[in-house]
Amino acid sequence: MTELATEPVLAPEPTSPPMRGRGVDRVLAAIVTFVPPLGALLAAWLWWHGRPPGWPELVAMLGMHAIALVGVEVGFHRLFAHRSFEPCRAVKIALAVTGSMAFQGPVIWWASIHRKHHQFSDQAGDPHSMYLGGEGRLARLRGALHAHLGWIWSADSVGRGGFARYAKDLYRDADVLAIHMHYLRWLLLGMAAPALFVGLCHGSFEGALLGLLWGGLVRVFVMNHLTYWCINSVTHAVGRRPYRTTDRSTNFALLCIPTLGQSWHNNHHADQVSALMNHHWWQLDLGGLLLRLLERCRLVRNVRRPNRARLAALAAGATPRSRTVPPATSTSSSTTSEP
Ligand SMILES: [Zn+2]
Ligand SMILES: [Zn+2]
Repeated sequence: MTELATEPVLAPEPTSPPMRGRGVDRVLAAIVTFVPPLGALLAAWLWWHGRPPGWPELVAMLGMHAIALVGVEVGFHRLFAHRSFEPCRAVKIALAVTGSMAFQGPVIWWASIHRKHHQFSDQAGDPHSMYLGGEGRLARLRGALHAHLGWIWSADSVGRGGFARYAKDLYRDADVLAIHMHYLRWLLLGMAAPALFVGLCHGSFEGALLGLLWGGLVRVFVMNHLTYWCINSVTHAVGRRPYRTTDRSTNFALLCIPTLGQSWHNNHHADQVSALMNHHWWQLDLGGLLLRLLERCRLVRNVRRPNRARLAALAAGATPRSRTVPPATSTSSSTTSEP
């Protein structure tokens, strides 16, 4: 990968983000939290009043959903957060751009938060654990809301200084840094593309608005609020735990399709370096299948497989010796804990 000649100048991590930053972050958090659900309500209201989505709206919604989901799960998560395979440059750029269309934040921010989650999983320091607010039903309900969505309102989770600690390798990648810096551009492209497609299909400006609604806001609401963000809440609370890990991650089969395999989350926490989330043939991992296909087409290489010896030890109850610390400075290496 291309490297910048000089490392970007980063401020030391502040103990508390500056107030101006907090204001901007809160505006963005409010948009992410409220605008997609309002769009979904508007779509439901239109449907109720005799304006159901036509095939162009459905194609736009499903198509953009698939594109953004691959960008987030295969790109933001398995590539940029975990370095679990090596892509050619075109695939790397495509994954960074399509993930940016998902309305889940810019790529370096996303990867930083996720690496921090793995370093402190369900312990103090985890940006989106549901177990840090105390015991009791009310505390657990508050924790579930925090894990699902509330964490994006937390100043700790968006402190910019954390980028230098958790994602220095991404800052050094000129392609990734450029896509990160132009996040708003890709976000708007993800909204404009379905609007243009449906507008052309209907041949009207009203059609373009319907495309924006269904392919943009409804798609974001379904993917983020209803499915993918359940990784932080549901798959740290409900399901089976075949491996002993230092967190409370679970495998939750019902979400394996809309998360492209990430709902095998206990598998992932047990062996986060692996690019493949399925440890048995019956565990559907669409993201892993896509990576195998890209590997056959020679568009990616070094797709990391599960460490069977480590997993067998964890399944037998071995105590994880240390937490996994994602790569902070290297673009190709990572450190994993041993059972
Ligand atoms: Zn997790
Ligand atoms: Zn992960």
